[in-house]
Amino acid sequence: MIDLETALETIINSVTVLEPHDVPLDDLVGCVLARDIVAPIDVSSFRNSAMDGFAVSAKLLQDCSVDAPVTLSIAGVSYAGGDPPKELEGCASGALKIMTGAPVPESYDTVIKVEDTTFTESVVTFTVQPKLGANIRPCGEDMREGETIFRAGHKMRAWEVGILASMGLTQASVIRKPVVAVFTTGDELVEPGEKIKFGQIYNSNRYTITALIKLFCERTDHSAPLVDTETALREALNCDSEIIITSGGVSAGDKDLIPAVAADLGWKELFHKIAMKPGKPVFFARRNNQLLFGLPGNPLSTAVTCATLVIPALKKMAGLSDFTPKLLPAVLRSESRSGKRMLLWPGTMRREGTELIAEYSSKKSSASLTSLLNSDGLIVERQRGDDCDTSVKVAVLLWDDLLR
Ligand code: AMP
Ligand code: MG
Repeated sequence: MIDLETALETIINSVTVLEPHDVPLDDLVGCVLARDIVAPIDVSSFRNSAMDGFAVSAKLLQDCSVDAPVTLSIAGVSYAGGDPPKELEGCASGALKIMTGAPVPESYDTVIKVEDTTFTESVVTFTVQPKLGANIRPCGEDMREGETIFRAGHKMRAWEVGILASMGLTQASVIRKPVVAVFTTGDELVEPGEKIKFGQIYNSNRYTITALIKLFCERTDHSAPLVDTETALREALNCDSEIIITSGGVSAGDKDLIPAVAADLGWKELFHKIAMKPGKPVFFARRNNQLLFGLPGNPLSTAVTCATLVIPALKKMAGLSDFTPKLLPAVLRSESRSGKRMLLWPGTMRREGTELIAEYSSKKSSASLTSLLNSDGLIVERQRGDDCDTSVKVAVLLWDDLLR
């Protein structure tokens, strides 16, 4: 039986970054850029006002004060979206009424906000001496033409989509995400919403898996739960999806047929069984460009193996540079549960000074999906060693890192 590190390495080495394609802005959040993004224009491309107010030449107001107010004639108005009045170029003896975002003609160097003035239709009075250049946004203040704004490999966050729009781009070249087929297997499975009979259970794995991987795939395809027969499994494992995830049917029962059916269909087994708990029976195989993750059926095992083995692979395919789960050192505040296999069990984590304190979820069954309730991540304990007291150092994997 291989260890978790070797299994993860095998998976990562079997995965290649997918090819780029163009994606419109509305679908860009969460995608990974295939190329650097360079600003094609200055943003903003013209000098403009940061305030509703009056543009002036500051030198006209250099002696201005409450005791010596200065009154100027209003030479015109500049609106956002409009051209500044042409006749004003080169003439700044008066003041220009101006709105936020409106172009500031070169002959004006300062904008005074409307609240600091009193005005009529034809004249405006100032009582304070402005700071030269106040309230004027220079051309290219936000971005300069030719400036590299994003690097390839960057995962786009929500507001960054707006940054691309502000430079006039309509799409970006991003790494394609994979299409994933998810099959759940088990004669006992019933879809939520249907009536349940004795001996049956609701199919939760289909929903757990889909929710966990959603961020990292283009699409997930599903079928109704598969019965535990060779015929049903053959059809599923013969589909042409680039990634196939199954749940159930990989351990030691009479109806755990996935490894045998896969072998028969030409899948090459890369490993079967990892020395980890939960999740020991996990099966991984390749056929040409396709990958098959055979996850165990116990709901907690499914969730843990999906988060720690499948998601890193999907992250790498999608072009993310930091796809390997980050193990953080922590101090265990619960009794040690280390055993013959590496344990990855849900728990809570909190900071105390410089230390990360981890505490196990009270439930101990890999059939209990509610072990995950309120957990912050997985506590990782190596195989049983000498230090099994309550303050042993362990490592943790945070959901915040694993799942995004
Ligand atoms: P298996 O790996 O097929 O032996 O299943 C192990 C356990 O997980 C059994 O108790 C199954 O009933 C349960 N199980 C399998 N598939 C699912 C599923 N899709 N949703 C919820 N529980 C499941
Ligand atoms: Mg089963």
